[in-house]
Amino acid sequence: MSSKGQESFSRLVERIRALSIIDPDEARARHPLSPNLASHISKLFQEDRLFDVLPRLELQLSIVSRFSPPVRPALDPYTSTQIGIFSKSFSDYEIGSFLDYPECCMRSFSERIRYSIDDDHLNELKISGKFAFVTTAGFIPCSIFCDSAHERGLISFVEREEMGRLKALEKEIAGSLPHFHPEYREHYFEVRSV
Ligand SMILES: [Zn+2]
Repeated sequence: MSSKGQESFSRLVERIRALSIIDPDEARARHPLSPNLASHISKLFQEDRLFDVLPRLELQLSIVSRFSPPVRPALDPYTSTQIGIFSKSFSDYEIGSFLDYPECCMRSFSERIRYSIDDDHLNELKISGKFAFVTTAGFIPCSIFCDSAHERGLISFVEREEMGRLKALEKEIAGSLPHFHPEYREHYFEVRSV
């Protein structure tokens, strides 16, 4: 059975793959919330500058499918760099929409400048009675109880026993998909526990 994290990752891979076979104008039309980023990616595919990205995504997807995590791991940093996810040329909303982040969370990120997991999230964890929560690295939820984020496989509560498996998944992705991005070494999830 597939997990929310696996489905979420699979959707994202599909979204990127679809851009490899359409032209930039169509990409723009199909992605009204991230027109500039989508047409940029489509253009890079056309210019054959992303030839190594799809095989990497396939490999990461096969690893993610094997582990079936409750939350989607961050995209391989090499891929993110290549397709422009880390680029300053695109707004937070364009990037967030493309990555399927809920609007409420993007608003909290941009308007309240919540660029990392903060005390409010940790206080929520305290009152939740849960042991820990995990998010997709790079994604900051508006609340750890955000239904949309849970539904989209971007955050989940986890038990102590599940944490080792998430670490193992991170290790496996990092080992199979080496990259030279200075950050994000073996860092595909953000985990906070009480
Ligand atoms: Zn939210």
